[in-house]
Amino acid sequence: MAKERVLIVGGGFGGVKAALGIAGDDRFDITLLSDQTNFRYYPTLYHTATGGRRANSTIPLAHLFANKPINLVQGTAAALDRKAKTITTTDNQVMEFDTLILALGVVTNFFGIQGLQEYSFGIKSIEEATRLKAHLHQQLIDDRKPDLNYVIVGAGPTGIELAGALPHYLKKLMKNHGIKEHRAVHIDLIEAAPRLLPRMPMDTSRMVKRRLKRLGIKLYVGQAVQGETADELTVSGKPIRSHTVIWTAGVTNHPFFKENNFVLTNRGKVAVDIYLQAEDGIYVIGDNANTPYSGMEQTALQDGAYVAQNLKRKAKGKDPKSYWVKRPITVIPAGEHWAAVLWGKVRLYGWLGWTLREAGDLVGFHDYEPWPQATEQWLTEFGSEESCPVCMASGTAQ
Ligand SMILES: Cc1cc2nc3c(=O)[nH]c(=O)nc-3n(C[C@H](O)[C@H](O)[C@H](O)COP(=O)(O)OP(=O)(O)OC[C@H]3O[C@@H](n4cnc5c(N)ncnc54)[C@H](O)[C@@H]3O)c2cc1C
Repeated sequence: MAKERVLIVGGGFGGVKAALGIAGDDRFDITLLSDQTNFRYYPTLYHTATGGRRANSTIPLAHLFANKPINLVQGTAAALDRKAKTITTTDNQVMEFDTLILALGVVTNFFGIQGLQEYSFGIKSIEEATRLKAHLHQQLIDDRKPDLNYVIVGAGPTGIELAGALPHYLKKLMKNHGIKEHRAVHIDLIEAAPRLLPRMPMDTSRMVKRRLKRLGIKLYVGQAVQGETADELTVSGKPIRSHTVIWTAGVTNHPFFKENNFVLTNRGKVAVDIYLQAEDGIYVIGDNANTPYSGMEQTALQDGAYVAQNLKRKAKGKDPKSYWVKRPITVIPAGEHWAAVLWGKVRLYGWLGWTLREAGDLVGFHDYEPWPQATEQWLTEFGSEESCPVCMASGTAQ
């Protein structure tokens, strides 16, 4: 009997989970197409940017799929032909499917603000995190003093994670580089909304604000970025001198969907039915889909597992189950040994929150790997890695 050809596009949280969910079921011929050779574990990218190991945030897809009947193809999906049931990549590979699962994630949105794309840094990929880290070191080598201001734009979870980790890391770097700078290092966190974590409860916002202030972060809320040049950022009409602006303030849905005429909601997400189908046999999951908790890792995981389960049910001749998703637990670390946790109505702050976050990462890695490999991956969280010659010579880099 001919196997059902399942093409999964995107080797991130949703795509990998879906692939692993149907792997081993010989009714399926599975192909996963991704533009990257690695799976990115986004929650630890801020840590990789501030001294953590690269291996903590990235796992080769080939490693995750070792001994699994999944054809792994590298390429960038560009066009969908609904009639021919094919996806064509930018390098003209044509991939046929019976069932398509799209899990492409989101892309950075600079809202057309002048200079940002050119001059700002980001932490949305391992390459961006590595580039930011290299810049922090290079600046100390070239100028022999820290930047006037280290500016993080966006006080959502990513901006807060990074702001929390930066003071300790900069202190360590300055020590390694033998820089005794009397002037305090300024770390600014800028948010256009009237408060930090604008999509989270007020009390969480207040607790995180208190924590960041204690770490010496300067907070600017209700302030909009208007432009950036090589030397400064303009915020609500005022210039801030900086060579280190990190943009964490915006993402938007992957352009693939607009370019291929999918129906989008007013949030820019793809409209899906109760089975996460955008159209018959075309599933859209994770950050791309218009679901209640879209935009979170646990949602993408649940979506991938859910679609895999339904494909298996359908292949057995059973009716598919309708989509139902659990509210994800939110954990936001802010500096060493401190995190805010929102778990339904429960809120935890501080060391206990941090411990839960560490445990959550271990469970997160186990979502993709057996316990021994997941534990090995998790342990990379506790190491450090520097390629800067000065820090390597100081012996504090692993
Ligand atoms: C810095 C950062 C920190 C985060 N921290 C947390 C956190 O702590 N907790 C949490 O719940 N969520 C967090 N998130 C959000 C979470 O990572 C996402 O919700 C999750 O990754 C969504 O999974 P996905 O499968 O939809 O997309 P992704 O995981 O982004 O996967 C998309 C994949 O598709 C690939 N791709 C893109 N375009 C193409 C193309 N044209 N062709 C082929 N392949 C393509 C990409 O390279 C990527 O591999 C964070 C996000 C960021 C950026």
